[in-house]
Amino acid sequence: MKAHDGIYLDGAWRPALSGEVIDVVDPVDEQVIARVPAAGAEDVDAAVRAARAALPGWAATAPAERAARLSALRDALVARKDEIAETVTAELGAPLAFSQAVHAAVPIAVAGSYADLAARHAFEEKVGNSTVFHEPVGVVAAITPWNYPLHQVVAKVAPALAAGCTVVLKPAEDTPLVAQLFAEAVHDAGVPAGVFNLVTGLGPVAGQALAEHPGVDLVSFTGSTAVGRTIAATAGAAIKKVALELGGKSANVILPSADLAKAVNVGVANVMSNSGQTCSAWTRMLVHRDQYDEAVELARTAAAKYGDRIGPLVNAKQQARVRGYIEKGVAEGARLVAGGAEPPRERGYFVSPTVFADVTPEMTVAQEEIFGPVLSVLRYEDEEDALRIANGTVYGLAGAVWAGDEAEAVAFARRMDTGQVDINGGRFNPLAPFGGYKQSGVGRELGAHGLAEYLQTKSLQF
Ligand code: NAD
Repeated sequence: MKAHDGIYLDGAWRPALSGEVIDVVDPVDEQVIARVPAAGAEDVDAAVRAARAALPGWAATAPAERAARLSALRDALVARKDEIAETVTAELGAPLAFSQAVHAAVPIAVAGSYADLAARHAFEEKVGNSTVFHEPVGVVAAITPWNYPLHQVVAKVAPALAAGCTVVLKPAEDTPLVAQLFAEAVHDAGVPAGVFNLVTGLGPVAGQALAEHPGVDLVSFTGSTAVGRTIAATAGAAIKKVALELGGKSANVILPSADLAKAVNVGVANVMSNSGQTCSAWTRMLVHRDQYDEAVELARTAAAKYGDRIGPLVNAKQQARVRGYIEKGVAEGARLVAGGAEPPRERGYFVSPTVFADVTPEMTVAQEEIFGPVLSVLRYEDEEDALRIANGTVYGLAGAVWAGDEAEAVAFARRMDTGQVDINGGRFNPLAPFGGYKQSGVGRELGAHGLAEYLQTKSLQF
């Protein structure tokens, strides 16, 4: 696979001072496919300085000019959509059709949405005798994970650029190649030197140096709760803005009036997609006790269809982690009805599509984010019980409600402590605010709400 042996700094690819490298591995066959620099603290410092130096110029550009650059960025991504899909397939292991339909197409839609928003957004408003200016927050540190590697980059960088911020991106070490491709697209789009910078590197080295850097004004992080907590503490001590997207354990609530077969089939597909490596996945299916056995049977049949269709997990560590959770589910008394901890292939980081029945709310597989193709099916007695279970985790990122009557589903959804709820299989909306209640995070991404994260207000009184 093609890779740059430098970091993208101040408008050019330059060697990293650290001299260290990261091996990029194809999770399907465990072979090294490329090497990229593992930047150190000095490299991060140079990138932050470049972003700082570029800030006054970029912040002062007219929103229409920023919109034009974002529109060009969208076009550059469109021109390379096949390369994007092939790259994500190579470094994440996602099946090519999924990479095309999701990993390439969604970021293109999001980049396009910010080209529109940059042109239309009211960066100035009148409030009584004041004029309120919405100004860029400053230098943004974007730290992203590997599960939707380009989407998570675009969901931070596009609104930051639209707002007039400059950016240093530290992508996940498992998926740096699509981030390099993105940097090329930014370059081709004519974004001025220093406005966007890319440092590939390890989390505890480059990521930590970036999150702690005094030249950064806002840290936007997506990833694990453990790292998010550290980043929030560091940012808090420095009185720095922080945005966190930390995952979930979302409930798929199937009310008795719902179309059970549809709700279960869509629910299983939702969990298995991207091999379960989706922070918003509906990993807990809640079914009324009278329909429970039928739902479990439907889920078992649905999961069996995914046997050869899902890709591997991203790396050996994640595979071991997910297998550990499956073993824990069995040990705590959940009933395995599909899949299991045994890897389905000798080579590659695969895990079988797995369904647990007889899961009770306090079990580990009902509480913790597994991040693999593992569904837990829980039984509820009545609607109040379903609500208690749905709201009974530390997370609150997403969810689903199914009912015969839309108003019934909406009434239930309004009582859920969560940031997004899909009603009867509602489709993903790249303009809807995305983010968590409770420990799923702080702040919102996407659409106008995502843009607002990168703005701060200044009021002038007349
Ligand atoms: P992680 O939190 O370690 O990695 C996410 C990003 O943070 C990567 O770019 C990483 O390099 C960086 N990072 C790691 N340590 C850092 C530090 N000390 N300072 C600054 N940056 C640092 O996540 P992971 O180990 O790749 O995955 C572990 C678990 O996290 C998963 O099993 C899953 O539960 C969760 N996760 C959630 C999401 C999500 O979308 N919310 C994404 C990925 C992982």
